[in-house]
This record gives sequence, structure tokens and C-alpha cells, in this order.
Amino acid sequence: MPIVNMNTLFKDAKEGKYTIGAFNIFNHLTALAVVNAAEHCKAPVIIQTSMGTVEYYGVKETISWLRPLCENASIPIAINLDHCTDENFAYQCIDAGWTCIMFDGSHHSLSKNIEMTKRVVDYAHSKGVFVEGEVGIIVGIEDDIVFDHESLANFEDIQRFIDETGVDFIAPSVGTAHGIYKGIPVIDYDIINRVISELNCPLVIHGGSGLSDETYHKLVRAGVSKINISTNIKDAYIGYFNDAHTVQKPLQLDKDVSKRIEDIIKKHILTFL
Ligand SMILES: [Zn+2]
Repeated sequence: MPIVNMNTLFKDAKEGKYTIGAFNIFNHLTALAVVNAAEHCKAPVIIQTSMGTVEYYGVKETISWLRPLCENASIPIAINLDHCTDENFAYQCIDAGWTCIMFDGSHHSLSKNIEMTKRVVDYAHSKGVFVEGEVGIIVGIEDDIVFDHESLANFEDIQRFIDETGVDFIAPSVGTAHGIYKGIPVIDYDIINRVISELNCPLVIHGGSGLSDETYHKLVRAGVSKINISTNIKDAYIGYFNDAHTVQKPLQLDKDVSKRIEDIIKKHILTFL
């Protein structure tokens, strides 16, 4: 099936009243696990790559194995570059074949964030690529960078950001966090509801790993378009290799860890439906 863009997935999700799971991969094994899980659930999915992953494998090299994997799947898949903080890197990935770029200028002032994101939006749109932007600061660890000063987004800033950048999807800081939750997060549902009902821009939740099923259901019911899952996948991968194994065949190790990751992805996809 041809690769789709996130906008198409979100339109279908809105009509069907479900949320798309977006899963961060860091190698072929994890990408294949996402595809297998989504095919099993017969649900569309988004595969996300961090800048760190793409830098490690190379822009053209990453997309050269990722695109065929998605194109050969029986379900629609979009490919998103997650938390890109470098404009030139965003342009390289747009040219190489990513269908969406999450450009993160949230650690700059709102004006600077708008200025940078707008440039990426203008370039991306000229190539038929979509852009997700972030307003406010989502706390936690993202690609080894720690952000410990949460700054929740307010409605006026979100509205201004969308209006002035022309961004396609919005990821406001609403109380979720990247990494492992130490307590129960306090999520600002008022702002989620207001953005969804008043601004015509699909809303994305970052830091989806570790939320309760009740929270997931509440977010799905609110009409959230996408929930990002990254930490759960990394933890399952590392946890598997940290466990003692008697398996002596490398391919069997890969199959076992893949199965563990697939199960986690299936659980999330089914919870979001
Ligand atoms: Zn994120």
C-alpha cells in the first residue's frame, strides 16, 4: 500500500472516532515490529524516527529501508520525523521522503518558534509534506536531552502559533511528559477540548508511554488525533537484552524481542481504537 500522509489518517480517525498510535522506531527490527502489530490489528499507524536515529543511519540510508517496509504493508502508514530541532535537517528529510516533520522550536521564545516553524512549513508545503509543531515545553528526556522546566501552553499562544505558522498539526504541552512518569500526570483536558473544538488543527499528545488505560480512553474520547509512544518500546528492547537468556541463536533473540515489542504496540493500538 502506498505511504500516506498523517492528514489523511487523521481525517479517517476523526470520522471513526479513534486515535492513531505513533511509535518511535530506532532500527529495522523495531520498524518491522510496528508494521506487524498494525497489520495484526488491521489499523493504520505512524512510524516515527528521532533525529538521533536518522543521524546514526544517515538520512537517505534510513528512508531507503523504511519506505519499502511501509509500502509493502497491508495497512496505511505515515512516516514522521519526531522532534526535529534543526531546520536544515528538516529540509533534508523532506527532500528524502518523510511524509511529515515534527519541528520542535518550543525551547525558543514563541516568536522565534513561530519564525522557525513557519520557514519549515513553507518549505514542507511546497513539497507536499506536512508539519507538526509544538507550543509550550513538554518535560522529560527526549533523545538524551533533559527538559525539566515544564511550560504548559495557553490557548492564545496555541491559536497564534497555528495562525502565524500555518502548521498542520499541533502538539501543545498539556501536562504529559517524555520518559517515565514518577507520579500521575495532571492533564489539562480543558485546553485539549478547547483546541479541538475551536481550532481546526489535529492535536497530538507527546509522552504517551505509561499513561493509564483510563487516560488513553479519555484522550481518544476528547478527539485527540495522535498519541506518541516511544519510552515503552525502548524499555522493552533494553529490558529484553538485559534479561538473562539461554538462547544461542541471534535470529531467535531478534524474533523474541520483536514479539515483546509487537505485543506492546498491539495493546496500544487496540486501546486507541
Ligand atoms: Zn515528544
